[in-house]
Amino acid sequence: QLATNNFCEENILGRGGFGEVFKANLDVKTVVAVKKLQVHHARSKDEFENEVKLITHIHHRNLLRLLGWSSEGSDLLLVLEYMPNGSLDQFLWGAKRGTLNWNQRSEIIFGIARGLAHLHNEFHVKIIHRDIKSSNILLTDDFKPKIADFGLARFQPEDQSHVNTKFAGTLGYTAPEYALQGHLSDKVDTYSFGVVILEIISGRRSTDVNRSSSDYLLEHAWKLYEKKIHKKCIDETLDLKQYEQEHVMNIIEIALLCTQSPVSKRPTM
Ligand code: ADP
Ligand code: MG
Ligand code: MG
Repeated sequence: QLATNNFCEENILGRGGFGEVFKANLDVKTVVAVKKLQVHHARSKDEFENEVKLITHIHHRNLLRLLGWSSEGSDLLLVLEYMPNGSLDQFLWGAKRGTLNWNQRSEIIFGIARGLAHLHNEFHVKIIHRDIKSSNILLTDDFKPKIADFGLARFQPEDQSHVNTKFAGTLGYTAPEYALQGHLSDKVDTYSFGVVILEIISGRRSTDVNRSSSDYLLEHAWKLYEKKIHKKCIDETLDLKQYEQEHVMNIIEIALLCTQSPVSKRPTM
């Protein structure tokens, strides 16, 4: 029931590897996002089926809902809930950079953590997203985050020795053990989440930072933290309020806990 006039240039919300995402009207009241994949890409069909299969049964406020799909005709369509504020990357180094305050940033980090915890813990078999990055985190009108883009998600393999899943993901966000040894577990998402946390704190894209391990990541995060506080002392104009300092502190603590402890030891958020 989607009118084809929805799919025009001015309604484009984003472009990805195999297609475009459009803003569309289901009816007078309901606005949705429609992800359109070209059927002639073999990988695009795989990703489509995967995205449908995995997310139909998932209901969580920090995971983007799939409302419907269609695979008739020459296009594959995913109907998704519409996220008015688009993706997180735009707020970090894109057009809207510098506009998120510390309160919003830490709420975003908490929200992503909740969404990931749901994927990793709520099902009989863990679901691994495999492509956690700032452009796959979407924001509601009040800046609540939802994890999107389940095209690469997989169930955790039972036996690591049989893993021969071809490497997939995004350079700069991928855990070294997965990129180098193909070892796939939920820690792969946790690592990428750590990179996203660093991006949220620093406002810089991960590929700008040369990093070889999660230790380096955390060390870097600490340095940023100290620099912010230090800068406050020498530059009154920066004016980090007490509560903002606490938020930054929280963020670093979460980053530490999430990237170093097993899921069971993480604090409940
Ligand atoms: P791909 O698999 O091609 O990366 P995504 O699902 O990540 O596709 O979507 C690409 C971009 O389109 C996102 O980074 C975001 O900017 C935009 N987008 C995707 N889904 C939505 C949505 N539901 N609401 C608003 N914008 C969206
Ligand atoms: Mg994406
Ligand atoms: Mg994708």
